[in-house]
Order: sequence, then C-alpha cells, then structure tokens
Amino acid sequence: MDIRRKLEVLADAAKYDASCASSGSSTTRRDRRLGSTEGMGICHSYTPDGRCVSLLKLLLTNYCVYDCKFCVNRVSSDTPRARFTVAEVIRLTLDFYRRNYIEGLFLSSGIVGSVDGTMEQLIAVARGLREDHGFGGYIHLKLIPGASPELVAEAGRWADRLSANIELPTEQDLRQLAPEKTHAEVTGTMAVVADGIAERAADARAGLTAPAFAPAGQSTQMVVGATPTTDGVILATADALYRVQKLRRVYYSAYSPTPHADARLPALRPPLLREHRLYQADWLLRFYGFEVREVVAPGANLALDVDPKLAWALANRDRFPVDVNAAPRELLLRVPGVGVRNVDRILAIRRHHALTAADLRKLRVNWKTAAPFVLTGDHNPAVRRLDTVGLKRSVQPTLFDDLGGDA
Ligand code: SF4
Repeated sequence: MDIRRKLEVLADAAKYDASCASSGSSTTRRDRRLGSTEGMGICHSYTPDGRCVSLLKLLLTNYCVYDCKFCVNRVSSDTPRARFTVAEVIRLTLDFYRRNYIEGLFLSSGIVGSVDGTMEQLIAVARGLREDHGFGGYIHLKLIPGASPELVAEAGRWADRLSANIELPTEQDLRQLAPEKTHAEVTGTMAVVADGIAERAADARAGLTAPAFAPAGQSTQMVVGATPTTDGVILATADALYRVQKLRRVYYSAYSPTPHADARLPALRPPLLREHRLYQADWLLRFYGFEVREVVAPGANLALDVDPKLAWALANRDRFPVDVNAAPRELLLRVPGVGVRNVDRILAIRRHHALTAADLRKLRVNWKTAAPFVLTGDHNPAVRRLDTVGLKRSVQPTLFDDLGGDA
C-alpha cells in the first residue's frame, strides 16, 4: 500500500478521537475543497496558552487486537487496515511541517502485538522527531492503558500532551462493550502521568532545571450514548478524573454507529446537543464552582432545551436577583449570561464605582439572559418577573444575542 493510501486510511481512522474535534467533521460538500474539514488528517487543537495549532492527526495503525464494540478499529471490524512504520510517520510529519501545513502531531494507535510493544512504537516516533530531527513542534501522544510505567514516563519526556482514554463512564459499561479494558488500568496509567507532572512542578519550585514532562498536561476521552448511562454518572466520572488525576480536559464523544455494529449498541447516534450540554456542564464544574449534584442528579440526563447554568438558575430562583455591586465572586459566577471574564471585570470595576445596567451591557454580559437575575443601582428586575411562568422562554439566548463570552 502506498503512503498516500495509508494516510487516507489512518487519518480517517483517527477522526473518531474527539480531542482534536475539527477533523471529526464530515460537513464538507461533495467535490468542494475550500473549507474542507476532512482532508488528510489535519485538525486543530489548543495549546495551554490558548493558541490554536494545526496538527497532523494519525493512527500508527488501525489494526487492533482488542474488541471494543463501539470502535471501528476493533479486531472484529472489517474496516480496511493499514500500518505506518515509525520512519514513515516521522517523514510525513517533517514534510507537512516544512510545508507549513501543520504545527505538530497527534499520534494514536490500535494495539498490535503487545501493549508495551505498541507504546514503544509511539514513543519511537516522538523520540525520533525530537532527538534525530530537533523537532520543536507540538506532540500529543495517546497512551496505551496498562503500558509499563517506565514507558509512560518516557512518553512524557517527548510529548507535550499525553492522554489515556477512559473510553466509557462506568466499569460496568466497559465490561459490556470493551471487555479487555478496566478503569483501574486506565487510571493507573493516568496516575503515572499525574505523578510525573507533579514531580516536575516540585523540581521547578525548588529551582531545579529538570527536563520537561508533558508540559501541556493530560486529557482523556469518554464515549457518550453507547450505553444508557446517564449524564449524572458521566459527569461524576469526569469530576473524579479532574480531582484525582488532575486532567486538563475530558472530551465527550457522542457514540457514532459503526458498520456491522454489535447488537448491544444503539442504532442511532445520540443528539449532538447532548455532547454540547455535557461540555457546558463540564465547564461549570471546572470554572464556575458548581458541584455535579447541583448540575444534574446521578440518575438523570441534562435538559437538552436549556443550558445547564440557566437551568440551575431557573430551578433556584430564590437565590436571585444577585446584587452585582455587593455579591461575592462565587455568587456572581452563578448568574446566567455572566461569564468568568465578566465576573473578574465586574469585581475590578466596582472597586472604583457602582455598576449600572449600561456598564454590564458594555462588558458584553448577555443582557437578555442576565437581566432578570441581577440587581444594579439603576436596574431592579421586579421580583415578580423571577416568578413568571414563561421566564425560561424569554431569557433563552439565541445565536444573534450579544453573547457575553463563556457564560
Ligand atoms: S483498544 Fe482502542 S483501537 Fe483497539 S478496539 Fe479498543 S478503542 Fe479501538
């Protein structure tokens, strides 16, 4: 098989990994190239300092000895197979890089031979790029869960970001759909990375100049909707990963039906809106001080018709209106339509003068959503309005509102 055909097969197989979301899209119109989000495995990702980088996103191989039912590369799938050599991936990365098509590499792999053997191959690509070619671009390596700690530690020396996929939200889901995997094995691999990052941070604090170790942290991916597991349980799993393993990101990937799928899998993909609501709820956990149980009950799913922050406010109307000139940061963060940056600016401005409704609009607070929930010197949302039955409909933001950032 020539390298171009391998690239087609192995870049296509890599698109199911959500951590580089743009390459999973198939929205390009037929026979159109401009604006294509599909071609040849180039995707976009964000570095810790917020830069958007283009990455060459590939699998080393889509052969896999495991049989995860939701995965197109499982051993029982009849998908076309291909395999790059280490030298081919290095050459492709350098070629794309020199032509300015990419700023880095995202490399994953099906499991061939042994777990450690596969991990060694992934490491060989990263090490070869760094040591033999002085490659300074971004590298995201997928870890093979259960790989020996020495190999995971070595991967951290060459990669900017590492990720081991948790795959499914519960142990029971794994038993059903990914029988060769366990949460304990995946979190064991994550713990090696977390320890490596913590150790490097401690060295830096002590003034030692130790070599970098996964400076962009670690992330994971969870398939959503392949089992009936609820959003409450999914978010509790994510929350535990953030707290215990110190992950930078959990990516939620809506289950996508594969050809000749196992009968235990649903026939339809869950609504993409569910994925979106999970990301919004995840954001509330990480940046807005919400606890999982406040956002959704363990046995429940997030509402699809309203974003989780607004849903919480509508269900807790007795906590509002919030006085933007007096309320503490934690309370301001709970106001729908007001993002983290808005809150920081409000706190800075109110040291100098009292804020008015016009000031909030200037800060690009989503006023339509926020108005019934805030109190300013010149704006007092008649408490009556908070009690109205139609409030949800009237405060829902639309695409055309002056969106207040990440609220
Ligand atoms: S181990 Fe990874 S590549 Fe292999 S079947 Fe499972 S999800 Fe797919």
